[in-house]
Amino acid sequence: MDLIDLHTHSSASDGTLRPRELVEYAVKKGAAAIALTDHDTIEGLPEALQAAREKGFELVPGLEISADYPGGTMHILGYFIDPDDPVLGRELSRLQEARRERNPKIIAKLQQLGIPVTFDQVRALAPGQVGRPHIAQAMLQIGAVKTLDEAFKKFLTKGAPAYVEKFRYPPEKAVDLIIRAGGVAALAHPFTLKFASPEELRGIVSSLKDRGLQGLECLYPEHTAEQTHRYSALGQELGLAVTGGTDFHGKNKEGVDLLIGYGALRIPYSLLEQLKRLQPGRMP
Ligand code: AMP
Ligand code: ZN
Ligand code: FE
Ligand code: FE
Repeated sequence: MDLIDLHTHSSASDGTLRPRELVEYAVKKGAAAIALTDHDTIEGLPEALQAAREKGFELVPGLEISADYPGGTMHILGYFIDPDDPVLGRELSRLQEARRERNPKIIAKLQQLGIPVTFDQVRALAPGQVGRPHIAQAMLQIGAVKTLDEAFKKFLTKGAPAYVEKFRYPPEKAVDLIIRAGGVAALAHPFTLKFASPEELRGIVSSLKDRGLQGLECLYPEHTAEQTHRYSALGQELGLAVTGGTDFHGKNKEGVDLLIGYGALRIPYSLLEQLKRLQPGRMP
């Protein structure tokens, strides 16, 4: 079976492999295609696309936008976007600005809590945009925590003492930006929405579908078999394409490998074929 991975991060956001290295790794692993979906940035796409051209490898230009959703975490994936779209570029710089404002505040909170990480130390760990995983790595480096997960759970996650909010676009706007940049929008890892009932999830997904959402990420390392089944059924019911990816971050997400996640994930190329048919301007 030809295997793919439609959710990966490079060092342009918070992955540890450079965009070129990610493509090389995908080729080495025998992937049939991958999508690069960095958080709120498309800065890694030119390098990844160039590396893919050189290797004759299929790289889907994408991104993952963090959307405003008070109940939990909502991430919207975009596929086949035009990396040169000026509106998308402009709107993403606003999100990068929000990160630049937020990171020093997180570090100040950690210092107040007696954890002596510095911005320079964190910056040195991030070739591209700085995110919480870099702060977690810095905490690991100085021995303040034993694992990245501990850094998140005790300090960095929503509700923890060093958490700081940041500006996000509403989900509808994230979907719209992706569509206007020529892309197809999919809802990432539905379980992080922390919905109270299946009906609530159906309501959220169905209203996003009305705004142009076309895919639902059903295959994901953290999803149980039951969740995968339930989300796939929901996707089918609402007429959404099933997507899947590992959320590979290199060393910044412990235990998750490209293509296979924690080991058991298999994402067939046919899912990408379905997604391609949804691209604006393509004949069905
Ligand atoms: P940020 O983009 O700065 O808000 O950081 C969000 C990123 O942190 C997510 O995309 C994950 O890569 C990572 N993350 C969130 N929770 C955890 C966790 N419990 N353990 C490890 N990484 C996490
Ligand atoms: Zn991440
Ligand atoms: Fe995500
Ligand atoms: Fe991700």
